[in-house]
Amino acid sequence: MGRLQKILLPFLGLVLAFWFYSARENFKPEMLKGKRVIVTGASTGIGEQMAYHLARMGSHILITARTEAKLQKVVERCLELGAASARYVSGTMEDMAFAEHVVKEAETSLGGLDMLILNHVGTSYFGYFNGDVGHVRKLLEINFLSYVAMTTSALPMLKESEGSIVVVSSMAGKVGFPFTVPYSATKFALDGFFSSLRQEFSIQSVNVSITLCILGFIDTESALRAAAEVLLVPPAPREECALEILRAGALRRRELYYRYGSTRLPLLLRDWAAELLDYLVRSRYRLDGLKRN
Ligand code: NDP
Repeated sequence: MGRLQKILLPFLGLVLAFWFYSARENFKPEMLKGKRVIVTGASTGIGEQMAYHLARMGSHILITARTEAKLQKVVERCLELGAASARYVSGTMEDMAFAEHVVKEAETSLGGLDMLILNHVGTSYFGYFNGDVGHVRKLLEINFLSYVAMTTSALPMLKESEGSIVVVSSMAGKVGFPFTVPYSATKFALDGFFSSLRQEFSIQSVNVSITLCILGFIDTESALRAAAEVLLVPPAPREECALEILRAGALRRRELYYRYGSTRLPLLLRDWAAELLDYLVRSRYRLDGLKRN
């Protein structure tokens, strides 16, 4: 009996673990059909690709960014691809009233909200920290405070629909990265706010999921322009990245690591060999490329 327990229990544990993890993998595009989704920063890059994936899945899409001409084109393409509906609101996320206005627009035009995808990011520099405190404050407003403002306004609708919040962050929001000091600070702030909020949702039985997306280097135009000369790692494709974000959100995952090998695995070192991780991060940069930047 003792021997049976020794063999049977671990075996049963393995079977259960396998079942649990494989059961979590069953994403179907229909999960997002007819869902009402806001995507911020969707005039270009990963946000634009998320809008196109959502359109193919038949979602109701509300996109936002500053550049109206680009948003118009993305909306037209979404309608061609099969979106249940597509519309945009243009404005800047430096203005918290605008952030709240976008959520209000979902309430009036879509009658509610199922998924809030927070993805926009303000322009920053790629180089040594230049001491500009005003820039850090402005970037915190765009990359962090507007996320908080939109979440706060959207919560009543998301509670009603038992919906999801998807927060697009970065490896630079989990570990210190050189040359993006203000940007990293804003991404660390997102982790603090949304991970704490998730804990409170759990205590209060609020059925709204929060998915924090930890991305590595992705081949968007702005990222390539800023870092292609300096980073020694190949960028991952934005279309695939966008789909992985939507999958993680639809499956109500706690966190997404994309690509897994270049994000999750190095982070395993963080608690046990932080200096080694710091060294590995630094070794990914070509410093003469930085001087040309
Ligand atoms: P892009 O620079 O391609 O797109 C940024 C989007 O944000 C655009 O739609 C832009 O539109 C919008 N935006 C910029 N400033 C403002 C503002 N003040 N108010 C409102 N909207 C604004 O970014 P990516 O697609 O590369 O990145 C998307 C997300 O992924 C970001 O959160 C980023 O931090 C994260 N990420 C990206 C990585 C990468 O390598 N690409 C790596 C790790 C994380 P407009 O200019 O028209 O306003």
